[in-house]
Amino acid sequence: MTLRGLAGRTAVVTGAAGGLGRATVERLVEEGVKVVAVDLDEAAAKEVASSAGGDVVGVGADVTTETGVDTYMRAALDAFGQVDLHHLNAGIAGSLADLVDVTVEEWEQVMAVNLRGPFLGVRAAFRHYLERGGVGSIVVTASIAGLRGSNDLLAYTTSKHGTVGLVHGAAVYGGPIGVRVNAVAPGIVPTPIFGEAGMADMRRRAGTSPLRRAGRPDEVAATVAFLLSDESSYVTGEVFSVDGGASVQNTNRRGGGAGLWDVSVTDEALLARHRAAAAEQETTR
Ligand code: NAD
Repeated sequence: MTLRGLAGRTAVVTGAAGGLGRATVERLVEEGVKVVAVDLDEAAAKEVASSAGGDVVGVGADVTTETGVDTYMRAALDAFGQVDLHHLNAGIAGSLADLVDVTVEEWEQVMAVNLRGPFLGVRAAFRHYLERGGVGSIVVTASIAGLRGSNDLLAYTTSKHGTVGLVHGAAVYGGPIGVRVNAVAPGIVPTPIFGEAGMADMRRRAGTSPLRRAGRPDEVAATVAFLLSDESSYVTGEVFSVDGGASVQNTNRRGGGAGLWDVSVTDEALLARHRAAAAEQETTR
């Protein structure tokens, strides 16, 4: 594998012990990149580092705190002296609760990991680039949920839309100093993010995308590596979908694929709840 501008560089990858993060660490190692594999789960981060081979250090850090971000940046500088590339990928899904049942606690937690984490990571990256001089490249993991809404995952969807704004703003900021900032927006890639039970559901839903299958972590990692590399030297502020075409199909047309959904399944619970409330009102009148 030889994507221009990767060999010999140093990268930070957050959420490195998860499905997508691990695949990116492995791909970057194949490209000759030195990697700092960061995860909340320190033991898992170290396991990824030792099994990936190459020049990889595993670091336990919480991306939601300034202390956590300082920890992984310091570890990177101690190990390799500088950081050229940042893949800000750690994320959580939150619950599938109805909009009216989403708690403030869940909202805050999802925003902290999925939006404050990337903000702190982007800020630390720029502070480092400005101190050190030279160019850099940042890729944030957004999602198809950063481009489209659904009737669940409200906090997740909002946080991922937020990452798109972060990428747009940071790309404009970084352009004059040669720092590129992009996002990768995966569709459905079965990983532990939705738990074991969610895997089958993810595969089933992915079957309605134009490519009629779920993605693989290495397919997302290949795009991340491309966006981090000099092969994408004129690309910045871009949100690059890796979703089997899911985000471009017209879901209101039978031929669009999502006509395979039976919407009555999703509507039934909401309509029943609404009707029950109306009936309750009626009896108390
Ligand atoms: P995953 O659950 O396998 O991995 C996420 C990793 O992030 C875990 O190892 C977890 O320990 C780590 N993490 C969570 N909170 C953290 C914190 N506070 N600090 C540091 N690390 C933390 O999930 P994944 O599918 O690999 O997801 C990676 C990214 O891809 C996420 O941002 C997710 O939203 C996004 N994404 C995934 C899919 C998909 O279908 N898998 C689709 C779209 C977007």
